[in-house]
Amino acid sequence: MSKGLEMTAVTSAQQRQNAQTGYESLRPKRTTPKTSIHRIFVSAYPFGLVDSKPLDILKKAGCKVVLNPYKRKIKPEEEKDLLQGIDGLIAGTEALNGEVLDRADQLRVISRVGVGLDGIDFSVARERGIVVTYTPHAPALAVAELTIGMILDLARMITKADRDIRKGIWSKYMGRLLSEQTVGIIGMGRIGSRVARLLSAFGCHILAHDLDPNLTLSDMFSIEWVSLKNLLKKSDFVTLHVPLTDKTYHLINVATLSLMKPTAFLINTSRGPVVDEAALEQSLRNEIIAGAAIDVYEREPYSGPLLHQEKAVLTCHMGAATTRSRYLMELQAAEDCLRVLQGKRPKDPILMI
Ligand code: NAD
Repeated sequence: MSKGLEMTAVTSAQQRQNAQTGYESLRPKRTTPKTSIHRIFVSAYPFGLVDSKPLDILKKAGCKVVLNPYKRKIKPEEEKDLLQGIDGLIAGTEALNGEVLDRADQLRVISRVGVGLDGIDFSVARERGIVVTYTPHAPALAVAELTIGMILDLARMITKADRDIRKGIWSKYMGRLLSEQTVGIIGMGRIGSRVARLLSAFGCHILAHDLDPNLTLSDMFSIEWVSLKNLLKKSDFVTLHVPLTDKTYHLINVATLSLMKPTAFLINTSRGPVVDEAALEQSLRNEIIAGAAIDVYEREPYSGPLLHQEKAVLTCHMGAATTRSRYLMELQAAEDCLRVLQGKRPKDPILMI
């Protein structure tokens, strides 16, 4: 497991405990005179298209802003040269390994648009005094709503009916009422807890599993906290909302899939490698489970065998892709980048311990 993944695991628990105090040790070691112009590279693409405000605030603060010239996810070998002389990076999901960071001679902050931190070499960032920030809250509702959409799609076979009608097949499938379903949520953090809130309106029976259960959630919604094994055995829908860590890598595999009901569905909007895709494809082919809806993949863009599996509903890592969420993510990334460069505390720093 890479250092980046270990750090993501530390971050989630540490963030809650230590949000107020831990940042002091992270303050950038390098400082630039207050009068100097900050140079910012925005590798995240798109940026400033939904709304220009995130770009406007950087320009208004007097920064020199360079946008991603490739207009797609940038490759490490392309980014290396673009980072020279840059003070602040507003990053997408590209890999920021030691080789890339070593070339970033002036870099003081990586402000990531979104939540995914896998791919950042935290040990190099810490050694170099580079602050890393992210925007964990802005995408949560959008991902939760996509998850509900996927559960409804699988329950009522919407994608299946759409595929059929285009082939000239007019067939009414008998679906399931959500009020009669048991939904198991693995990972009850920002997104998982929002899924529970939205699901409670449908009257589902909700099972929850988390390494670090937040028991106050049980006062807000009717949730039954269970072991992973019981959740997999009892749920009609299993939905994944854990970060990618060494503990969650291939959490869903041949053994865990075989615990699920043959009538059950799996939904993954978390991170691709949480599911062993080969095992999932095999379990759909062999009718170990009934179907799946997948937004994230082991390799993206995805081009594997699930494309030919009728029981899988596939989307293209678009959980956070609503205009409002994108705007909020870009705005916070721009504001946090500026805050660090101006010597202030960012809203959501990653605590690298
Ligand atoms: P979060 O940190 O708020 O919540 C994660 C929860 O998982 C925590 O409560 C944690 O205790 C729990 N957890 C961690 N390891 C666990 C384990 N081994 N077993 C059980 N529980 C465990 O994270 P979040 O913001 O809710 O994000 C959840 C996932 O959604 C992440 O993987 C994130 O990368 C992903 N995400 C996807 C999209 C998308 O576009 N599809 C967008 C944003 C986030």
